[in-house]
Amino acid sequence: MSLTLKIIMGMILGFLTGLFINIFSLTDYDFINNYFVGGLFDIVGLVFISSLKLMVVPLVFFSLSTGVASFDKDKKLSLIAIKTISLYLLTTAVAISLGLLAAIIFSPGAGLNLTTSVEYIAPSPPGIKSVIIDIFPTNPIAAMAEGKMLQIIIFSIFFGVALRTIKDKNSDLLKIMENVTNVVMKMVFMLINIAPLGVFCLMANLFAIQGVGVIGNLMQYFLLVVFVLIIHGFIIYPFLLYSFTRIRPLSFYSKLRPVMLFAFSTSSSNATMPVTLKTVTQDIGVNPKIASFTVPLGATINMDGTAIMQGVATIFIANAYNIDLTTIDYLMVILTATMASIGTAGVPGVGLIMLAMVLSQVGLPTEGIALILGVDRLLDMIRTVVNVTGDSTVSTIVAYSEDALDKKIIN
Ligand code: ASP
Repeated sequence: MSLTLKIIMGMILGFLTGLFINIFSLTDYDFINNYFVGGLFDIVGLVFISSLKLMVVPLVFFSLSTGVASFDKDKKLSLIAIKTISLYLLTTAVAISLGLLAAIIFSPGAGLNLTTSVEYIAPSPPGIKSVIIDIFPTNPIAAMAEGKMLQIIIFSIFFGVALRTIKDKNSDLLKIMENVTNVVMKMVFMLINIAPLGVFCLMANLFAIQGVGVIGNLMQYFLLVVFVLIIHGFIIYPFLLYSFTRIRPLSFYSKLRPVMLFAFSTSSSNATMPVTLKTVTQDIGVNPKIASFTVPLGATINMDGTAIMQGVATIFIANAYNIDLTTIDYLMVILTATMASIGTAGVPGVGLIMLAMVLSQVGLPTEGIALILGVDRLLDMIRTVVNVTGDSTVSTIVAYSEDALDKKIIN
């Protein structure tokens, strides 16, 4: 049985087990609650996520600096960076516009007529100014210790650029770094094998605790976000991919399956990053030099699924409170949500915190977040799938444009 199939089975069995526990309220029994849901499932699930996260910092540092250092001297790195960042921003702006458009058409939340504020203190998001300042590291070790992805990316690129200029004199170091990258990649392979069990436990724990009943009266909002996520993930990306690279979307998506499954079960682009990197290089054919830059960057700044949720949520909250938004407001939402998605770390639930930044920008009550809190955990799983699909699509397009895509691999 292939690993992907095992992961799918782990996911379905975990979902059914969790749902069974939830429907029959088995968590009321201390034995089940303490030893299984809060015990075994929780421990194995968390250890699984920790072990994936464990690989992120070494992988980004070694593969990115080695990738940058081994580019030919005549390659314009800045051009690749500009191309990648522009595509990430463009797809995010399209995503949020789609979210807004769908929400304007379907008006979720209309008729709720909320006037009094709900008991909820919205977490305060960082301001745009501190998001920008925070990109630049002061201490590489601290950045790595705290897992500050953008800072690690900047330091790794800087290190790689310097190594590139002296690599003829110092080729030993480059060789060592390449070897370490291979070791880290091997570790990722080894960890991926425990995924079926990890995924089973994550699903069982989540659905035992929250079931699916939470969707209840948020059904319209939930379905609308899922609808736009599907359009973006399965129409916009394939369209972009095919127009630029002529790769058949079906082949692309079948290779991407493990990445999507990991994203769905971990709700974290960061934790999924090692798998994304492995898949786009080894199964899709993106040259590791390109992927080592585009994938970590995407996992950190490219959150199209999150932007879609933020667009729909903004209109939902505006409708619920009967607040009219002007065209300028909509433009502000597009701009701020694009910025917010850069500042959203690729870990579970952060998209919702960053929503506060979008809401306050257009004068909407941030406590409105409480309205959608209940279904956010489920939506997070689905939007993370879109986030990582976007990272992989853009990586493939950039690689193709740089003549760094080996199409034989995907075909
Ligand atoms: N969980 C998302 C991710 O890691 C971020 C978010 O929307 O909260 O990609």
